[in-house]
Amino acid sequence: MKIRATVWGENVHEQTNKVVAGIYPAGMHQAIADALNQDPQIAATTATLQEPEHGLTDKRLSETDVLLWWGHAAHGQVDDAVVERVAEHVWGGMGLILLHSAHFAKIFKRLMGSPCNLTWREAGERERLWVTSRNHPIAHGLPDHFELENEEMYGEPFGVPEPLETVFVSWFQGGEVFRSGLTYKRGAGHVFYFRPGHETYPTYHDPNVRTVLRNAVRWAHNSAKRVADVNAAPNVPVASALEPITERGPRLHHDGEAGLR
Ligand code: ZN
Repeated sequence: MKIRATVWGENVHEQTNKVVAGIYPAGMHQAIADALNQDPQIAATTATLQEPEHGLTDKRLSETDVLLWWGHAAHGQVDDAVVERVAEHVWGGMGLILLHSAHFAKIFKRLMGSPCNLTWREAGERERLWVTSRNHPIAHGLPDHFELENEEMYGEPFGVPEPLETVFVSWFQGGEVFRSGLTYKRGAGHVFYFRPGHETYPTYHDPNVRTVLRNAVRWAHNSAKRVADVNAAPNVPVASALEPITERGPRLHHDGEAGLR
């Protein structure tokens, strides 16, 4: 069975900016999905902000193994209920890949619990990405380093928690550096942040970038059954303890109580 990837695109710049529309006539989300569908083991489809519930109903997320997210101009327009729904699916085991300016997406900030801020400059400068985790599955098939001739600069410090792994570090022509490929585990879900992908440059047409996207989907895929109720916090009564115990001391709660939230 193929890995079901859903590429979520904000789809705003493509509709309002001629340069972006020229590079991505079918939208950035479609270009990313096309890259993924070059892999016979991946079946990628798209969803956009403008669809009802942003195209991310509970049913759609249940049928998504890995969700990719590109957002920028309209982070604030993403419904909080949809953000929480996506978070719960990640905790339950859905993979999530955050692309470029999705560092400020509500879902990334929700899952990181930190400002996710950085320094930036839009000057079309060269970015050189170095593979910092040899033989990492996300770097499979890549050279030790590769370049993107025109990219936006993102610089450290990047306001995220220390990652599980740093797969890429970027150097920019102006001198800054950035941790540009970071892995996290949130609940049962694998999370990957990948930096390149500024809308006015043809980054998602780059062969190495497309390789990273395919590798990342394979890496983020969790083949185990999605955890059913990720928010469950059941009380275990004394009589149900695995080993016999005698209750001691005062207590506030009753057996089987739902507990406080
Ligand atoms: Zn950008």
